[in-house]
Amino acid sequence: MKKLILSLALGATSFLYANINAVVSILPQQTFLEKIGGDKVNITLMVQPGDSPHMYEPKPSQMKDISKADIYFSLGVEFEDVWLEKLTNQNKSMIVRSMSDNITRIAMVKHSHGEEENGHDEHDHDEHQDNTHDVKKDSHIWTTPANVKIMAQNIYNILSLMDRENEAYYKKNLTAFLKEIHNTDKTIKELLSKIPTHSKFMVFHPAWGYFAKEYHLEQIAIESGGKNPKPKQIAHLIEEAKEEKVRAVFTAPEFSTKVAEQIAKEVGIPVVKMSSLDPKWSESMIKLAKNIAQ
Ligand code: ZN
Repeated sequence: MKKLILSLALGATSFLYANINAVVSILPQQTFLEKIGGDKVNITLMVQPGDSPHMYEPKPSQMKDISKADIYFSLGVEFEDVWLEKLTNQNKSMIVRSMSDNITRIAMVKHSHGEEENGHDEHDHDEHQDNTHDVKKDSHIWTTPANVKIMAQNIYNILSLMDRENEAYYKKNLTAFLKEIHNTDKTIKELLSKIPTHSKFMVFHPAWGYFAKEYHLEQIAIESGGKNPKPKQIAHLIEEAKEEKVRAVFTAPEFSTKVAEQIAKEVGIPVVKMSSLDPKWSESMIKLAKNIAQ
């Protein structure tokens, strides 16, 4: 809307060629926005590859991009709780729209401690005495095709409102992306049909809760209070992995891999390095399923 007014003031030509300047919090959002927005949208990514959306501080160059932005696509990741207000103060004409409207958030799984959950269980009573939060909702909503379909639709709705001229273009892109999401889901289901339901996988940081719920799997988190678990907890995790026939241990570049490797070695299961923030969304979803199904 702001784009339209600004562009008309600058004349019809600039309106036709002006791209929407958009900001997103995390990499998968950039992927989804590229799929729908194509060459009509310039994207600034806030949380850079290898960094964690649970704790991130924008760089000065990113603050400069913010000052030129038309829209911020929020997602509800922790980084936004701290920064979104500061960023909107930087550019009062930037609108903020949520990519996650109509998505139902689930609670973080047990064993996922730390800043995301703020919950208590038998492992971390002593570390979180000052805790005042209720059980936190899982912010990793992009780890299931069903949610990404909703996000794609949200992006389309927002872009076609901002830029009616290109509505048909966005619609065409939406249709193609929805088909890709559908095929991703189909491939995952085929892969996972070969293993028992409620099969378990272990992960350092519990980023795959939605995936686990959607495909009837169980995710066991290694981290405790957002940190490496203590030796006693590691021993417990090894025991649990053996008892529960955990199929694989997943680690991400944003987090420490040492403990995950230690557990996997002890149990005799593979370690798979992959990030839930991988920009190649479909491939990474399929990679996860493939490694659990193996
Ligand atoms: Zn996370």
